[in-house]
Amino acid sequence: MPAEPPIEVPSRLSEAYALLAAGPIVPIAGGTDIMVRITGELGPLPERMLDLSRLDALEGVALELGTLVLGARTTYTEIRRSALCREHLPALVGAAATVGAVQIQNRGTLGGNIATASPAGDTLPVLLATDAEIVVGSHRGERIVPAVAFFPAYRRTALAPDELILRVRIPLLTGREVRFRKVGTRRAQAISKVVMAVSWRSHGKTAGWSDVRVALGSVAATPIRAAGAEAVLEGARPTPETADAAAEALAAELRPIDDVRSTAEYRRVVSARILHRIVRDAGSW
Ligand SMILES: Cc1cc2nc3c(=O)[nH]c(=O)nc-3n(C[C@H](O)[C@H](O)[C@H](O)COP(=O)(O)OP(=O)(O)OC[C@H]3O[C@@H](n4cnc5c(N)ncnc54)[C@H](O)[C@@H]3O)c2cc1C
Repeated sequence: MPAEPPIEVPSRLSEAYALLAAGPIVPIAGGTDIMVRITGELGPLPERMLDLSRLDALEGVALELGTLVLGARTTYTEIRRSALCREHLPALVGAAATVGAVQIQNRGTLGGNIATASPAGDTLPVLLATDAEIVVGSHRGERIVPAVAFFPAYRRTALAPDELILRVRIPLLTGREVRFRKVGTRRAQAISKVVMAVSWRSHGKTAGWSDVRVALGSVAATPIRAAGAEAVLEGARPTPETADAAAEALAAELRPIDDVRSTAEYRRVVSARILHRIVRDAGSW
């Protein structure tokens, strides 16, 4: 095994930004993704690494004027234990509970899941379905990237090489419901075959849904929104006809691939069934 690369451990954001500007240097948060690469067998090792563990600015979960704000270094365990997350966004708690197993949840971070940009990243559909914003920073200052624009291509992000993910901002809308489902081979340590988050605003039993978002992972090169299914659900009530039409639209618009974890056909059928069931449960029929 090759020698580990040298690690810088800044305690202030300005120091981290200066190190990134002088690059090349690769951030490490929980290390659950990057340590898999440290053997050098999966590609060249980073020349230097930037340990984020002392950057307090990347920590904490808070509620700010109707927005849930999560520091990039928030671990899955912290999400699961957070009273704010449990009260305001149980779907994210549900997603965190499906990642790896306890060991990974104790180390792995939300920022690491976003920066890794795996199409199977379990929190990513929740971020897309809730119109989350990713706040990134560098020596040039901070900027906000909508989650839906953060993953332009397979395992690519909107991050510049000298930028860090600082925090995630999730607006909490009145009357919004968010549901999360993951299908994998096992209950733990399973990479998703299909992962989905659906959100909508409901305005009483007789009114149709609004602001519908259907977001999926593991069915394309990036996490995606399903515009066809969203169009069917927007303005509709959760009736059996709506569920059928939404599931049909979703199956028609998805173009998943066959790979080691699943087949394209399985992913298409299961995605449609998950959406059908979410609508059915919402309609209580
Ligand atoms: C056994 C095992 C099981 C797993 N199971 C799942 C699973 O079920 N679902 C799932 O989604 N993932 C899973 N993963 C993947 C991984 O645990 C998650 O993606 C995790 O969130 C990564 O976070 P981390 O803090 O460990 O990232 P790290 O490994 O520290 O970093 C990952 C990448 O993100 C970059 N990075 C980290 N933080 C920042 C930041 N703040 N700003 C900019 N770049 C940053 C790093 O440079 C690196 O490129 C699993 C991994 C293992 C080893």
